[in-house]
Amino acid sequence: MEYQWGTTRRFNAYADYFRKLFGERVQKLTVNAGFTCPNRDGTKGRGGCSFCDNRAFNPSYNETGKPVRQQLDEGIVFHRNRYRKVRKYLAYFQAYSNTYAPLEELKATYQPAMEHPDVVGIVIGTRPDCIDTDKLDYFEKLARERYLVIEYGIESINDATLAAVNRGHTFEVTGKAIVETAARGINVGGHMIIGLPGETREQWIQSAEVLSRLPLHSIKFHQLQLIKGTVMERQYRADPGKFYFFEMEEYLHLMADVVERLNPRLVVERIAGEVNPGTAAREGWGMRYDRVLARFEEILEERDTWQGRLYNETLIFGH
Ligand code: SF4
Repeated sequence: MEYQWGTTRRFNAYADYFRKLFGERVQKLTVNAGFTCPNRDGTKGRGGCSFCDNRAFNPSYNETGKPVRQQLDEGIVFHRNRYRKVRKYLAYFQAYSNTYAPLEELKATYQPAMEHPDVVGIVIGTRPDCIDTDKLDYFEKLARERYLVIEYGIESINDATLAAVNRGHTFEVTGKAIVETAARGINVGGHMIIGLPGETREQWIQSAEVLSRLPLHSIKFHQLQLIKGTVMERQYRADPGKFYFFEMEEYLHLMADVVERLNPRLVVERIAGEVNPGTAAREGWGMRYDRVLARFEEILEERDTWQGRLYNETLIFGH
């Protein structure tokens, strides 16, 4: 059976979406543009979100201080040696808040990526409170020339959780940024953490319904992981009873519950992800992502369910 996203897979998978959009596989290249974060420099807060340690997600070719063009070229060499067939790349500005700088600085950062002949698109990770009208005007122009995604850290739809993890903004701020960005014709991505302390299974399932009503283009889910040196690690050591870490099978069943309530229009970029074992403060599943994904798809098959099976169209307003 072919689903409405045009494949026989039971969810609207990012890899298929890209193959359709670009006609071939596209590899993401992580770029560290050297921005900081208002939740670290004191503007919004200090110490950052309790779960965050940016050292956890930068491959070794990213060293702040290297020009963007050089990072892209080095990234391409790094990936070409591994995946010889890949010829197209997405520049992924992941670390910290990549819209947290004056507009001229943003332009100087993104122009080299826009001009790179092998880069077909740009993904910009940021906080929803680091965007304004002038920046949106600029990104709207870029989005007309290249594939562009602004990826907002959502993390939770619950204000009590956002406060508890020292996020420094509410979910209302997130929703507003998503709506305003999408209204400019820019693809909006979102990142969610499943398993933050204090939340319940019902709330994670409900988040699928809430996210489905927003004009998001794509979504990434990560199970909660504990990273060495974070505030959350200290909190866990002090009171482990407040935390719950999923076994893989249980998590994937929960994600099936989430995905079957998710708007089928939403491209699912990830359903899980493990930080590298060197940075994890607790042992993870130790399973490669392709195996995790394969098991997830088996579960969808066993349950004879699919993305959007329980999605209620009548709830939708706006987009
Ligand atoms: S998760 Fe993002 S917003 Fe939070 S401290 Fe880390 S870089 Fe800043």
